Amino acid sequence: MADVILSGVRKVYPGAVEAVKAVDLRIADGTLCVLVGPSGCGKSTLLRMIAGLETVSEGAVAIGGEPVNDREPAARDIAMVFQNYALYPHMSVYDNMAYGLRNRRTPKPEIERRVRAAAGLLAIEPMLARKPRQLSGGQRQRVAMGRAIVREPKVFLFDEPLSNLDAKLRVQMRIELKRLQRSLGTTSIYVTHDQLEAMTLADLLVVMNEGRIEQIGTAMAVYEKP
Ligand code: ADP
Ligand code: ADP
Repeated sequence: MADVILSGVRKVYPGAVEAVKAVDLRIADGTLCVLVGPSGCGKSTLLRMIAGLETVSEGAVAIGGEPVNDREPAARDIAMVFQNYALYPHMSVYDNMAYGLRNRRTPKPEIERRVRAAAGLLAIEPMLARKPRQLSGGQRQRVAMGRAIVREPKVFLFDEPLSNLDAKLRVQMRIELKRLQRSLGTTSIYVTHDQLEAMTLADLLVVMNEGRIEQIGTAMAVYEKP
């Protein structure tokens, strides 16, 4: 079980910017939760606190019943996907996906099994030997997701992962991401400023404004009010 539970989480940056104001949030195991809201409302800060990349000024974050501390995400079964894919340009797609597992001394047959399974899910099997520059934007984004999937994390954190793609591809990738999340069933938290993206993806939609949760519920409940 990897419920994500935030209790009274607050973040004050130096200079007294109160980026997140006492947020309470419970994300059940297997849920795709989308944080949506205007630029500067505190989405990334909240996500980074869940990842343990940013300290919490007050309150607590727990994943699967365990408090999140300042250990790096790799140590806590969390995988993040960002908008700048940060693939290693000199490495093949296979090696990009295998890199993190090799660092953790995962046995080679297990690495191969996981990379091939992820490549299958993402339909990038024919591209495993290519370098990132030989891929389209959408394919690169799939590789970035593949790197997260092979870690078999308890929680995926997505920070505007599709915002560098053109509109058509964004729609396609959004559908694929939803399908993928359903089939893996991994608890996921997805940050976006795009309302349409939020509506189509979310099991649980969290609308933020000025550091607070303004609305929360299913997309239907939040957007289709009489
Ligand atoms: P969003 O992801 O919704 O755009 P952020 O979480 O990035 O919002 O930012 C929330 C607020 O915190 C903004 O006012 C932003 O300027 C401020 N902020 C973000 N990161 C820092 C930082 N490292 N130091 C100081 N202020 C920050
Ligand atoms: P090595 O190349 O020294 O055998 P690697 O860890 O790079 O070690 O590769 C492990 C296995 O992964 C290989 O046996 C191969 O089957 C597969 N593999 C590695 N690179 C690629 C690639 N670019 N495309 C397809 N499969 C690969």
